[in-house]
Amino acid sequence: MNYSIEKVAVLVGAQRLGNVDANVGFVLTDSRSLCFPEETIFFALKSDRNDGHHYIPELYRRGVRNFVVQDVPQDYDKLYPQTNFLKVVDSLEALQRLAERHRSEFRIPVIGITGSNGKTMVKEWLYQLLSPQLTVTRSPRSYNSQIGVPLSVWLLNEHTQLGIFEAGISQPGEMRRLQEIIRPTIGVMASLGDAHQENFTSLEEKCKEKMLLFKDTEAIVYSLDEKVVAECMQSLSYSGTKLSWSVEYDQASFYVESIEKQDITTTITYRWQNSLKGKFTLPFIDEASVGNSITCAVVALYLGVKPDDLARRMADLEPVAMRLEVKEGQHGCTLINDSYNSDINSLDIALDFMNRRPDHKGRKRTLILSDILQSGETKNNLYPEVADLAEKRGVEKFIGIGEALRSESDAFSRLQEKYFFATVSEFINSDVFKGLRNEVILLKGARSFGFDQLTELLVNKVHETVLEVNLNAVVDNLNWYRSFLKQETKLVCMIKADGYGAGAVEIAKTLQDHRVDYLAVAVADEGVTLRKNGITSNIMIMNPEMSSFKTLFDYELEPEVYSFRLLDALVKAAQKEGITGYPVHVKLDTGMHRLGFNPKTEMNELIARLKQQSAIIPRSVFSHFVGSDSDDFDSFSEIQFKLFDEASKMLQSAFDHKILRHIDNSAGIEHFPERQLDMCRLGLGLYGIDSRNNEIINNVSTLKTTILQMRYVPAGDTVGYSRKGKIERDSVIAAIPIGYADGLNRKLGNRHCYCLVNGQHAPYVGNICMDVAMIDVTGIECKEGDSVEIFGDHLPVTVLSDVLETIPYEVLTNVSNRVKRVYYQD
Ligand SMILES: *Cc1c(COP(=O)(O)O)cnc(C)c1O
Repeated sequence: MNYSIEKVAVLVGAQRLGNVDANVGFVLTDSRSLCFPEETIFFALKSDRNDGHHYIPELYRRGVRNFVVQDVPQDYDKLYPQTNFLKVVDSLEALQRLAERHRSEFRIPVIGITGSNGKTMVKEWLYQLLSPQLTVTRSPRSYNSQIGVPLSVWLLNEHTQLGIFEAGISQPGEMRRLQEIIRPTIGVMASLGDAHQENFTSLEEKCKEKMLLFKDTEAIVYSLDEKVVAECMQSLSYSGTKLSWSVEYDQASFYVESIEKQDITTTITYRWQNSLKGKFTLPFIDEASVGNSITCAVVALYLGVKPDDLARRMADLEPVAMRLEVKEGQHGCTLINDSYNSDINSLDIALDFMNRRPDHKGRKRTLILSDILQSGETKNNLYPEVADLAEKRGVEKFIGIGEALRSESDAFSRLQEKYFFATVSEFINSDVFKGLRNEVILLKGARSFGFDQLTELLVNKVHETVLEVNLNAVVDNLNWYRSFLKQETKLVCMIKADGYGAGAVEIAKTLQDHRVDYLAVAVADEGVTLRKNGITSNIMIMNPEMSSFKTLFDYELEPEVYSFRLLDALVKAAQKEGITGYPVHVKLDTGMHRLGFNPKTEMNELIARLKQQSAIIPRSVFSHFVGSDSDDFDSFSEIQFKLFDEASKMLQSAFDHKILRHIDNSAGIEHFPERQLDMCRLGLGLYGIDSRNNEIINNVSTLKTTILQMRYVPAGDTVGYSRKGKIERDSVIAAIPIGYADGLNRKLGNRHCYCLVNGQHAPYVGNICMDVAMIDVTGIECKEGDSVEIFGDHLPVTVLSDVLETIPYEVLTNVSNRVKRVYYQD
């Protein structure tokens, strides 16, 4: 929708300088994102860090002629002829006011979503559930701030039948503005969570502030099971319809009768408005997804979606991937992979992202795009728009995949180079695919087109020995273990020993992203590394050294305390820094006899010493099972638990604040979920190994290498040092660049174990050397350069650990640092 510049001036209450006729359709706040200069109005925003006024000369040069400013440039009429300046007191407020006025042009339902967690997932899923019957305009990605919300609302247009917008706040006072701009008719509270209070004094205060969004709505959707939310709703004077959902209270508008988790799906049976019964199955099992799907179901039913349609669409829900991944591709290409829902707004953002990266200088910019599904526009409107955008955003080569794009190929006539294919496989088999060279490629495809396969082929296969780490598998494992736990049970993820070999930093980022309550590492330095890499989660240090206390305090790392000597030294160090109430974790020795206070004899003394100082406070108390992985030790575990239960209760009763109690490790979670207490500690399970039965849940790490050289060795000859590898038949022997210095144990040599070459067993021949090993590939179809799996997706690490008569932990943690870790997720 276009507005005349006169109208904009009136709407935002500006003094207009310059007097050129103009219509504006695009609102810009970040000069780097400029796309359609003639129709753009730039708002020069001032923040603590930056001042948009600095970009006026550059934008003028690039063709922008309409500016909203707080300070009019000197000699503007000479320097900037034919230009409109709208002078306002506050540019941000003007932007918000423009969006607010724009919003008031629409008499349509608008959903406003707030909450601390899951806003974007709820928004995207509502979009997936409702867009088959309504034309929806929604916030791009997570545009939910004081700037993001007006930019989102500005996207409402004459086709829109429903708006869905997120509202995020970081301090008191902000929601009122967002409410005025979004003016939702339906309010949705996604999960409030119990996250850290940033700028609020309490969770209630934060909740109430968020609920300001619901002013003037006709209905509010919220969970009765979130206590704070339920209480705040109770005290809200509200005349609209309260649409609550609950697992616990059957008087909720949407009562969840049951939640049944299968391997990869969850089935939810419900009763709606006390009458209608229904159920749906969603393709996720984690708690967050389940809660968010229920929130979405309530909105959809309220908006008149039929239960059958709801169930059908729920089954097809797609994960919400927010990330634009950048990967090194083959033949000098860089791949930008955007698996976010494909629609024109997100295409615009992705193209903008591509242009902002420094690496397209001198290289061709290529867009590989699939048909855009469910856009709500007819294809003769949509694709010319896409073509226009691609051209304006500097795409030099366009590859369209899908029937709709192919039939609309005429729309792309202005692009220099363009190709169209019906399917991904047609493209893969073409010369266009083979000819990709030295380009920056943006891949954007609706999931059903199978772009995963395409990316797989395009990314650079690193020809070295690498440990590939599948971050999705980490999340899947996390969720698998979470499925044993109550919603409120907290989780510590153990990422000691550099994340059991997988690399602590990336694992920690992933876990933080999935909101685990604590991360635990062995020593302070590991904690510092995490902090320096942007990890803000709570971090526990399992083996604090006496020399590291200052570091602990400086980086907010919470130590384990296991002895009086450590306790006293820590208290003294904290007192010296003037610290009070520093959280620590008390370890009790219930049978491991490694570290910890004696729960039988030392509790009184421990409590007394803790109480006579105020420098540190016990945040949690814990112990560790010696044999939760085997039924053989069940009676011993029972004794351990009893000892712990009594001693930890004793500690708790000496203090007023809640002390978290925890004892279950990975195997314990599975074997004794009834002993989950307040928190559990997940270690090996995260990395996909079920130590109860030595099976792999979701494999995380795959150690791979490639064949360096192959040779024929006749029977009677030997291979390797000390002539150990006697060749009994004429053989083909391959050398691979991995040796004991990389963590390939020498004991695997001399045919004690094998690796996989093109899916077939290739035994190690002779002694494994420091940097190289030799394998027998006789009869296996292979060539130099082929990939070899040492352990991983197809060869469980437990095969190696069994041969070595050890546990998988040792094999995983022995992969040496010189082996490159490569992280991926789908
Ligand atoms: C390593 C460790 C864990 C994790 O054990 P897993 O068997 O790997 O789950 C839990 N607690 C403590 C104290 C640990 O040292």
